[in-house]
Amino acid sequence: MTSLSTTPATAVREVGEGQKDDAQRIERIRQAAYRIRRNALDMGEVQGQGYIGQALGVADVLAVVYTDQLRYRPEDPHWADRDRFLLSIGHYAIALYAALAEAGIIPVEELESYGSDDSRLPMSGMASYTPGMEISGGSLGHGLGVATGMALGLRHLGNPARVFNLLSDGELDEGSTWEAAMACAHHGLDNVTAIVDVNALQADGPTAGVLRTEPVVDKWRAFGWHALRVDGNDVAALVSAFDELREHRGSPAVLICDTRIGSGVPLLENREKAHFMRVEEHEWELARTQLQEGLAR
Ligand SMILES: [Mg+2]
Repeated sequence: MTSLSTTPATAVREVGEGQKDDAQRIERIRQAAYRIRRNALDMGEVQGQGYIGQALGVADVLAVVYTDQLRYRPEDPHWADRDRFLLSIGHYAIALYAALAEAGIIPVEELESYGSDDSRLPMSGMASYTPGMEISGGSLGHGLGVATGMALGLRHLGNPARVFNLLSDGELDEGSTWEAAMACAHHGLDNVTAIVDVNALQADGPTAGVLRTEPVVDKWRAFGWHALRVDGNDVAALVSAFDELREHRGSPAVLICDTRIGSGVPLLENREKAHFMRVEEHEWELARTQLQEGLAR
């Protein structure tokens, strides 16, 4: 494998810090998204497999969240006032590790241990293993319930931290997600932001064929949520949407992000869509080249 991309030094991030110059802000996030994709590809190559299609698809969302929106202290992952990011889709861990490295919460050099015995970076997200991994995910439908409980607790404590939960479109099939959505709105938890990665695919096939979830935005609004929908691979659109959601008060908010599986690597974007994408040994280097070419455009 080639060397993992270097993470820039990260300090305590304060909300609004990155907003002085929009063009600079967007470019900085695009560079972070590139490194997240690049590091995810390198981790995928180490194992010869991984949920690489989803990782590439969600990289822009994670770049905006981790380099522009969340408040945290990289050297103190348990800081009481940190914003919480809950990954209920445990198989996206490869993408979150790349984002945690970008955030300075785990060392970039550690990424090459992904999926190995005794690694702190198992193939599915485990809270007890990884700094910055708030919950163990993988069995879908639990993240939003935990987020709701955490947000209630923070409100009782007068703690201003926010709680984010990244869900997938497949996770909307879970009844527990909608119970949590109802409870979260009932309690008016405006410290909760849900993010739904709509890549139109889930383990058993295209989402539209497994269980129709559209119209997604109308459903969340009917449950009492402030809901927006954006192209989840458009950094500028994501930034505007997250900024608007941060100002919203009185109810929880959700951002529906339409993403492309394999985004940033045409070789993988154009291949037949699969929940678990096969990448041949010789294709990893080509994927990195294509990713680099995309950044230059
Ligand atoms: Mg999906």
